[in-house]
Amino acid sequence: MSKILVIGAGGVGSVAVHKMAMNPDIFSQISLASRTKSKCDAIAASVKDRTGVDIDTYGLDADDVPATTALLNQIKPSLVVNLALPYQDLNIMDACLAACVHYMDTANYEPLDVAKFEYHWQWAYQDRYKHAGLSALLGSGFDPGVTSVFTTYLKKHHFDRIDTLDILDCNGGDHGQAFATNFNPEINIREVTAVARHWENGAWVETPAMSVKQSFDFEAVGPKNMYLMYHEEIESLKTHLPEIKRIRFWMTFGDAYITHLNVLQAVGMTRIDPVMYEGKEIVPLQFLKAVLPEPASLGPTTKGKTNIGCIATGVGKDGKEKTLYIYNICDHEDAYAETGNQAVSYTTGVPAMIGAAMLVTGKWSGSGVWNIEQFDPDPFMDMLNLHGLPWQVKELDGPLQF
Ligand code: NDP
Repeated sequence: MSKILVIGAGGVGSVAVHKMAMNPDIFSQISLASRTKSKCDAIAASVKDRTGVDIDTYGLDADDVPATTALLNQIKPSLVVNLALPYQDLNIMDACLAACVHYMDTANYEPLDVAKFEYHWQWAYQDRYKHAGLSALLGSGFDPGVTSVFTTYLKKHHFDRIDTLDILDCNGGDHGQAFATNFNPEINIREVTAVARHWENGAWVETPAMSVKQSFDFEAVGPKNMYLMYHEEIESLKTHLPEIKRIRFWMTFGDAYITHLNVLQAVGMTRIDPVMYEGKEIVPLQFLKAVLPEPASLGPTTKGKTNIGCIATGVGKDGKEKTLYIYNICDHEDAYAETGNQAVSYTTGVPAMIGAAMLVTGKWSGSGVWNIEQFDPDPFMDMLNLHGLPWQVKELDGPLQF
């Protein structure tokens, strides 16, 4: 029985709050705060409608540390679940320290002015969280999040040693729009246009953004082109599972998405440095976000499935080389029917609820800053099966041929 404060009333926050309300034995009181209070109120109304649970709502600029601290002192939650944007991570971590509240998020800190997805800013809080006797759980979404838990589950139950890991993120959904992103457009485009980096034999290998492409046949979706990208869990996995010699991350994109993105990039609309426009500084990518569809608005029209998982090759518990594929398939329309949000928000919001459940029930505990792969995967994996993201493990004939 725990009081929770969720910060961020976007698609992910909406799913997490709905799923928490469906588990009143774990989450006894839920509060939701975000920059725009009316968005919190709309989510609260949907939660009341679907579950009968009341949640209280607050307008909050989470970059204002004293204001966030004051709200924490007023509500006195046991945990803050940060589902705002990566830019807010450090400010919310500071407020949690000031008010002595545990912390959790789904995406690592990024400075506004440079697209750098690195953990060092948040890992630097290690001593402060330890000394305060507080836990900070980083990256409890799907990727990062479930994909890291999938990896530790494979390691715990199937492998003596993992040599290579490929994380495959496929969204086979169609939202019917010419161009839209399934989560925050600014974060999504910063991620996609960043230089691709993977980990190989103890070093980072860099390739130009979207320059390495492979086709892969995804169950329940079909063949799709996927592109090598940098993703933040590579950094934490190579740190906590140093035996893995190669870690790569792949994401699928349709040809129309790539064409639009290329044009937007070519004309400068994905720039994150300010430009002067009619006497005022604007950041082109932030302006682009303002004219693109809100991810939360794509729910009613999105059809199809996501298939996200990990392929690991290594030495099995039986001493033989093996390749295992562990994945979840999620249906956009089912996700929308249950929570009013499409599957990309659903596959992030459900693990956010589960990570919060791990902390408030004490299944995962310990002072300090933790990445999700540092905890026992089993109770998290059980909850995935029970709360809408069932997974399966399949043995492949051999390692990937690329
Ligand atoms: P949205 O943009 O839909 O929602 C973000 C919400 O945060 C908005 O309601 C926004 O308010 C609010 N917000 C922004 N700035 C502040 C602030 N300073 N103070 C308070 N609230 C603020 O994003 P998503 O729901 O799609 O994503 C949420 C988070 O989840 C992001 O960090 C994203 O990177 C992460 N994510 C993680 C994934 C994973 O698998 N690990 C996958 C997908 C997303 P307003 O509406 O007023 O702007």
